[in-house]
Amino acid sequence: MLINGKLMEKPEKIEIFNPSNNNIIDTIPLGNRQDTKKAIKAANIALKTMKNLPSRQISEKLYEISEDIKKNSKIFAKLITLDCGKPIKESKEEVKRSIQTIILSAEESKRIYGETIPLDACFGGENLVGFTSKVPLGVIGAITPFNYPLNLVIHKIMPAIAAKNTVVLKPSIQAPLAALKLAEIMNIYLDPGVINVITGFGNEVGDEIVKNNDVAKISFTGSVNTGLNISKNAGMKKLTLELGGNDPLIVLDDANIDEAVDAALRGSYLYSGQVCIGVKRIILDKRISNEFKDKFVNATVKLKVGDPINLDTDIGPLINEKAAITIEKKVNHALKDGAELLCGGKREGAYYYPTVLENVNTNMEIVQEETFGPVAPLINVNGFEEAIEVANNTKYGLQASIFTNDINKALKATKLLEAGSIIINKQSTYRADNMPFGGCKMSGLGKEGIKYAIEDMTKTKLVIFNPI
Ligand code: NAD
Repeated sequence: MLINGKLMEKPEKIEIFNPSNNNIIDTIPLGNRQDTKKAIKAANIALKTMKNLPSRQISEKLYEISEDIKKNSKIFAKLITLDCGKPIKESKEEVKRSIQTIILSAEESKRIYGETIPLDACFGGENLVGFTSKVPLGVIGAITPFNYPLNLVIHKIMPAIAAKNTVVLKPSIQAPLAALKLAEIMNIYLDPGVINVITGFGNEVGDEIVKNNDVAKISFTGSVNTGLNISKNAGMKKLTLELGGNDPLIVLDDANIDEAVDAALRGSYLYSGQVCIGVKRIILDKRISNEFKDKFVNATVKLKVGDPINLDTDIGPLINEKAAITIEKKVNHALKDGAELLCGGKREGAYYYPTVLENVNTNMEIVQEETFGPVAPLINVNGFEEAIEVANNTKYGLQASIFTNDINKALKATKLLEAGSIIINKQSTYRADNMPFGGCKMSGLGKEGIKYAIEDMTKTKLVIFNPI
């Protein structure tokens, strides 16, 4: 763990398993409430110097950190794969994106502006001068999930630092190794207390970060249930909640089917479906559903399931065997309720084979709840209106995608679909690290994407000057 610039061990340990073979690969310190309080205190003290650092210097430090991570790219990719079972080719992509996210933060740190306010537009303001500046918010509490253990951590701590805040991070204990390696590197470049990392359980370390009055904001990514719990406990803190999703991919009868099949394949099975913006429901116009189904199932059975450390592996294990059993139960439940298995439906330890289901109805749990696994339910509909109705029939609203060559329907869909982003002719599983990202409904509150995260990690301070 990292508290006030000191890397520290603890006698109490948590064992970290490689999900592909269940071997113990490392142990990490089991942090507690006291450690978390110390970290928050250190972050508060560090704010005093951080606030006064020129943004040029902060930007330079972030560039240096990005260079160091680049030098260690191979180590980071391997750590991600061993720790969370992500296929190595996807881990390499995550590391590349993480470096880019830091560079975006380094650039954005020099563009934090206020504005002038035309006070003379209101009675009594005739001679006044008004302007705002953006000032740091304070200590940012960052709490992250297991599935993008490097880039999602970076999406919180780098904008926070770019805006001259300090951070206490609690990474997921299901996949903490990349965050701990990152902390080691950041500690070389930043003053003590600017970044602190505590590993431990959500209901102790996470709970302390959420409730502690010296934390100004919680930036959380994770499940809806944890997000709801955090919003109940956070009191007067700013909140960003990036929560679960149930993204639809609609294919209309005028769409390019091959493109749609390719997109559905990438969207449904990326990191074994353990992606918040994974395609979770495929909604097909009846007129093209047979063609789509045949091509999609043919492509699904060709995916290579295997050890995620091998470069040609498409599908690795889920994060642990318990997660795979949950998926197995959900699929079996749907089959009992009348769904039909077109391929997959098999579990071996933490591995679950890519699975396509049809005859799925919109009330089934597999369609209503977020399924965090490689399962693609096909839902047939009669035309555009029904497709939109089915797509919106969920409590989630993260991203949504539609395949069509009809510009009118595409534009109409952008108005009607209830989601944070609407993507036309590409799977919802797309995120550029500078775009405003975040859902509506139960998928969360607020936006990330460097510029947008920074906006939420600063306070607007107004100055009124009466020249006499
Ligand atoms: P999770 O909610 O189980 O855990 C996330 C983090 O919260 C972990 O660090 C955990 O220790 C911590 N936590 C648990 N209980 C807590 C508490 N009481 N107080 C404070 N912190 C607590 O999520 P997960 O299983 O790690 O991740 C998967 C979920 O994350 C999925 O639902 C997925 O859709 C979502 N997710 C969302 C996005 C997004 O940007 N919208 C991105 C990735 C993942």
